[in-house]
Amino acid sequence: MRDRLQALADAARQEISGVSEPSQVEALRIRYLGKKGELSAVLGGMGKLPPDERRALGEIANTVKAELEQLLADATKRAEEAALEAQLKGPKLDVTLPGRAVLPGGRHPVSRTLEDIVRTFARLGFEVAVGPEIELDYFNFEALNLPKDHPARDMQDTFYVDEPSLGHAKKADSPSLLRTHTSPVQVRHMLSRKPPIRAVMPGRVYRRDSDITHTPMFHQVEGLLVDKDVSFAELKGTLDAFVKAFFGSETRTRFRPSFFPFTEPSAEVDVTCASCGGKGCRVCKQTGWLEVLGSGMVHPNVFTAAGYDPKEVTGYAFGMGVERLAMLRYGIDDLRMMFENDARFLAQF
Ligand SMILES: [Zn+2]
Repeated sequence: MRDRLQALADAARQEISGVSEPSQVEALRIRYLGKKGELSAVLGGMGKLPPDERRALGEIANTVKAELEQLLADATKRAEEAALEAQLKGPKLDVTLPGRAVLPGGRHPVSRTLEDIVRTFARLGFEVAVGPEIELDYFNFEALNLPKDHPARDMQDTFYVDEPSLGHAKKADSPSLLRTHTSPVQVRHMLSRKPPIRAVMPGRVYRRDSDITHTPMFHQVEGLLVDKDVSFAELKGTLDAFVKAFFGSETRTRFRPSFFPFTEPSAEVDVTCASCGGKGCRVCKQTGWLEVLGSGMVHPNVFTAAGYDPKEVTGYAFGMGVERLAMLRYGIDDLRMMFENDARFLAQF
């Protein structure tokens, strides 16, 4: 048993001298001196020995235990000092380094512009109406005075889809498409209530077009006012008020005769160029004017399709491209930048 104690002490001295980390020292302490450790295991057989022998062995065991405790304490101290030294020699913490900023998110210029347009018309008393982006050919074209063989359909290259449009099952024989404008919302809005109507229709629209001035998806806001005896002068007044609120009170408007199948008469609306104040520049192609809106008095056929009597009511409608207004407002000259989601571009707004 003495020999076993000596062998245990030798092995422990050897191992303790070889460790370099505090966790290793602790593992050795548990292994040799723990309750179920090796020293306890050796001393477990002492009960069967004669008393003299037991006392002598006890003394040796205590000496061995005290020595190992001392060795373990020294090893712990050594390991801790080594760790501290390694930390001081290692990569230094530079407390003068500036912190890493968390950049705040922001609204996309198209979203900001769309919300501004809607808010401006809300102040003029217009409510917001929305409708499905997958639309029936009937609501997108036919109900808007664009029958199947109408030449104006060529202007709007359309994405037809297999997915059926929601609602209005009675028109289920009509093909489905991605709406090419938000005008079908005007028809749905009229079908769902009686005049007077005063609403704007914001939303995404889709056309098979992709170049520097066209993207397959873009945003529109259209507006519709229906009541008794609505005049073209009221349309001019409303759009003039909008333009001044959106582009600035100095902005003037100009109405040019135009053609849209769903309005008669129709007019395109130009505003004075904010970049040059009307003198002529690159933005306005030297004309001093920028085209921003389409508008007109609602065509009687559109009222009939919506179930209104064109002899009873009149109204006006208008529409604008949100990306175009955002580009003019922020001085962006490539439409595609709006959809590239380049954080460096978006961070400027
Ligand atoms: Zn200009």
